[in-house]
Amino acid sequence: MAAVLPIHYPRSLLRAFNVLPIEVWGPPQIDAGLGAAHLQAYVCSIVRNALAFLLSGGLEVTDLIVVPHACDSLQGLGSILIDFIQPRQDVLPLYLPRGNGERHIGYLIDELRAMYERLSKTTQRAPGDDELMASIQREETADEFLAELHQQRGKLTTYDFYRLIRAREYLPAEGFIELAQDILKQQGASRTAGIPIVFSGIVPEPMSLLQSITEAGGEVVADDLACCGRRLYPPGTSKDPFRRMAERLLGVPPDPTLGSPISARLEHLLGMVKKGEAKGVVFYSVKFCEPELFDLPMLRDGLQEAGVPSLTIEVDLSDPLSHQARTRIEAFLEMIA
Ligand code: SF4
Repeated sequence: MAAVLPIHYPRSLLRAFNVLPIEVWGPPQIDAGLGAAHLQAYVCSIVRNALAFLLSGGLEVTDLIVVPHACDSLQGLGSILIDFIQPRQDVLPLYLPRGNGERHIGYLIDELRAMYERLSKTTQRAPGDDELMASIQREETADEFLAELHQQRGKLTTYDFYRLIRAREYLPAEGFIELAQDILKQQGASRTAGIPIVFSGIVPEPMSLLQSITEAGGEVVADDLACCGRRLYPPGTSKDPFRRMAERLLGVPPDPTLGSPISARLEHLLGMVKKGEAKGVVFYSVKFCEPELFDLPMLRDGLQEAGVPSLTIEVDLSDPLSHQARTRIEAFLEMIA
């Protein structure tokens, strides 16, 4: 089993080595003191809590730790783990390119091959191209179901919907496919009960936030969350497993941690607003998240110019949902209703 830090990583490569990835988005609401002792005060709570969780033994069941370099904070965490803390588990960094051209794909292919070698050394296995392709196809099927769930949110409440799709963070692809099939069979007409909003940010934690949105009369009709909508990996086309994995990883919707231009992000958000007939956008950011904070002013200006109201809320994953955040969401929904 591998503990995997956010955001993008090759699930199919890990599974080809019989390694089950379990994602670590924080976790929220833990005592972060152990992590804080090793990090600057301005490092985000995703990284700080993950380090605290590791140091308190929370990742003892895992055999590997994968640290994709999504941002400076995660890159720093990778270095701290490798050079100073040196946990029992092997630490595998993954350097992701910032862009989606041919040279970025070539670079990522080399990174994935290097990861293959590391995994091979750790697990004493060497899956061939056929095994890699079978693993890729299984993940592609799971991602097709994930995309379908995003399209047909059906009868589920916002909270239940995000609990369901976030199962992709820990269930093996085959388990997720079964779950998605069951839910899709039961799905009826879409809910149109609440005030439709688009949700952007990193991770919807604490999840009670989503219940608060419903209680306040809102409904998330589409998202641009790093843990959800920004990871709708398209099916691949290449017959080469490494190229196919790289193309899929870089074929996602615009993401600041992959170097997407702000204009592409704005266009994507406006597209979601239009399609979901949303009345506003909520940016739900983790405090000190630089990739999000850099884009935010221009995204909000662009939305305003297009007549789309937006709200920004910042959270620390160790804190419970504050009354202030709830009140601001309620006031925003009242304003756009
Ligand atoms: S919340 Fe932002 S700064 Fe923190 S790990 Fe995620 S992308 Fe990096």
